[in-house]
Amino acid sequence: MNNPIVDFHAHAFPDAIAGRAISQLEHGGGVKAFLDGTIVSLLGSMDAAGIRTSVVCSIATKPEQFDPMLKWSKEIASPRIVPLLSVHPKGADPVGQVRRVAEAGLQGIKLHPYYQDFDLDDASVFPLYKAIEELGLFLVCHTGFDFAFPRQRRADPVRILRVLDRVPGLRLITSHMGAWDDWDEVEKHLIGKPVTMDISLSLELLGRERAREMVLSHPADRILFGSDSPWSSQSETLRLFRSLGLGPELEDKILGKNAEMFLAPFSTSIRVP
Ligand SMILES: [Zn+2]
Repeated sequence: MNNPIVDFHAHAFPDAIAGRAISQLEHGGGVKAFLDGTIVSLLGSMDAAGIRTSVVCSIATKPEQFDPMLKWSKEIASPRIVPLLSVHPKGADPVGQVRRVAEAGLQGIKLHPYYQDFDLDDASVFPLYKAIEELGLFLVCHTGFDFAFPRQRRADPVRILRVLDRVPGLRLITSHMGAWDDWDEVEKHLIGKPVTMDISLSLELLGRERAREMVLSHPADRILFGSDSPWSSQSETLRLFRSLGLGPELEDKILGKNAEMFLAPFSTSIRVP
């Protein structure tokens, strides 16, 4: 049997708001979703692609979204769906919210500097990073530019290094091969360093040769498969990834084994809501 495949970067929404969320995001970013944004359609896509588990990243655009997101995340958590809570750094008590995520038995946090209006290395965000580190959670953070926002540097490789320099124990997963559409800087500052990255929404833009070169030049246990579904197709991302021709050992690590290093405690510590 093949090793289980983990998609470390996917999105879904509660059924009641999925339709609205998808159409708003499609308009905001000028993109088209491949799925309707519900958990059911994500599971269908996972079945079709042969993906065992998806990490579902929520993004709190307002601090008051935390409570409903926590409730929903506890409902959808399963061995197949690993929900990441989003804490708004500008809310009243982000550190307390991180604590509540850990208490709920959830494993990680998702932050998005553009939607949440902060720079990755803002001094005000460090207590949040410290809390994530101390509670043993991991952090998936959007890094690089975002197609829905002006090209303003908020989460670029230099800022990533500043964060890791100050909080070296932070289990940070950067997105989109280090920093979306900022890959010259990624090559300059991140490739070859102990910085974990997912490959979502990068292969189609980088092209086979450059993507392959970057992956092969990076530590083998620091790269995670991710699709950014529904903003790309999971099976197409998988096909593109396999077309890099990395060899079975490295492919296995990126598709699932590396993710298990983060998710291993999940299956044993998850509590029934
Ligand atoms: Zn995403």
